[in-house]
Amino acid sequence: IFASVPQAPADPILGLVGRFKACTAEKKVNLSVGAYRTAEGKPWILPSVAEAEKMVISDTKLDKEYQPIDGKAEYKRPVQELIFDADVIDSGCLATVQALSGTGSLQCIAQFLKFMGVTKVWGPNPTWGNHPKIFQRALLEYDMYPYWHQESRGLDFEGMIAGMQKMNEGDCILLHSVAHNPTGVDPTPEQWQTIVQVCKERRLIPLLDNAYQGYASGDLAKDGYAQKLFTHSGLEFFIAQSFAKNFGLYGERIGYIHVKCASKDAADAVLSQMKIIVRQAYSSPPQHGAAIVNKILTTPALKEMWLKELTFMSSRISDMRTALRGAIEAKGTPGTWNHVTDQIGMFTFTGLTKDQVVRMVEEFHIYMTADGRISMAGLNPGNVDYVAESIDKAVRG
Ligand code: PMP
Repeated sequence: IFASVPQAPADPILGLVGRFKACTAEKKVNLSVGAYRTAEGKPWILPSVAEAEKMVISDTKLDKEYQPIDGKAEYKRPVQELIFDADVIDSGCLATVQALSGTGSLQCIAQFLKFMGVTKVWGPNPTWGNHPKIFQRALLEYDMYPYWHQESRGLDFEGMIAGMQKMNEGDCILLHSVAHNPTGVDPTPEQWQTIVQVCKERRLIPLLDNAYQGYASGDLAKDGYAQKLFTHSGLEFFIAQSFAKNFGLYGERIGYIHVKCASKDAADAVLSQMKIIVRQAYSSPPQHGAAIVNKILTTPALKEMWLKELTFMSSRISDMRTALRGAIEAKGTPGTWNHVTDQIGMFTFTGLTKDQVVRMVEEFHIYMTADGRISMAGLNPGNVDYVAESIDKAVRG
């Protein structure tokens, strides 16, 4: 029965993790996957998470029964408050559903778009590699709008707006709400205002992918700027909220879908339909990660701890940006390197060519994605010089 099943290629990002583990080179660095690492290069369980987890485990009120299809009702407000003002939450215009982290949220949103009769989704060029597949899997057409400007290693804002002008009414536009992956380049507040305006004019359906709130600046409000702007624009839109990175809860698969609707009636109807999608896909979401997030957000001392941990993580990454740029510039490596510190969030889009990336991986055992993206969280004081030295060699050819 299965003899004719062809072998699929390894995932372009997760496949690199496997290669890194199998690599026997004495000096090797994993800059492929977007997961936080300590200055010693180790995964980090946030102390607030460890503390909350102990409380959750000893909480006699929690059993192992199924959660509701859309997650516990009492867990919703604290996660909504990370994005929305109290009056918006009180208005009842939000349909909120606990989902399987960012990917699972996007998956349900894609199915919901299909159900609504949307035919096309536009994502930035480039974007996180899984985005196109998620929408195509829901039988939606997927196309790209310009985003990255190679010469300036920044945002191609004119190209982006021109691209948006070509979209049709009722098309969905996928936007990264903060810390764009893979480029680390975000629109400025003024540019976001224009983007919102064009979404309105073209009658687009915005979908904000919020995978890194708090990771860019360490400040949830600052990183939540675009979401606030959309909320107060009067537009109806989707948010996919992931807690993988900002709570370090990658493996717990915890996130939420929020649909901002124009009325409470619309939100109630959207919620009822989203629940059907969830019920058919996986019935109900996992409890453990949701309980941890809720414990942190509703225990003032733990929330304060978590906010400090967010600042700590984003500062360590920012220090690594300064260190990497300094080390590359000290070598006089050809090219400009200000983009290393200009870009924000977890990734730097180095601008290395495909061939240079091949050398980085094959010769220097520095694992990174083929598009030249490196995870800044994988850098630390012990490997940053080696990475700079290798980039220098790869660029000089
Ligand atoms: N969106 C973007 C832009 C991402 O970078 C990621 C993770 N790499 C996700 C969504 C989904 O992450 P998760 O499913 O782990 O929450």
